[in-house]
Amino acid sequence: MMEDFDEDFCQCPRCSGWGFIDCHCGGDLCVCDNYGERDCPLCYGEGEVSEATYIAYQERQSENARLWSEAMAKRDAEGEVK
Ligand SMILES: [Zn+2]
Ligand SMILES: [Zn+2]
Repeated sequence: MMEDFDEDFCQCPRCSGWGFIDCHCGGDLCVCDNYGERDCPLCYGEGEVSEATYIAYQERQSENARLWSEAMAKRDAEGEVK
């Protein structure tokens, strides 16, 4: 369904190609004047990013996920030793 417009560009992994993301406060209670949405910080509203940006983002995400799961595992382990 999705066509590749250009080999060097990928669908933005941050916003899934929408060009915008939920703001941090999100929707009804938005206090940042973005009314629940704001331009995607990765693709700047373009909906696609360069392959290099895409790869860098994926690597950062997997690194974050790894650090997060390590931190959680450590916390759980420490929690059990009471
Ligand atoms: Zn907001
Ligand atoms: Zn994006």
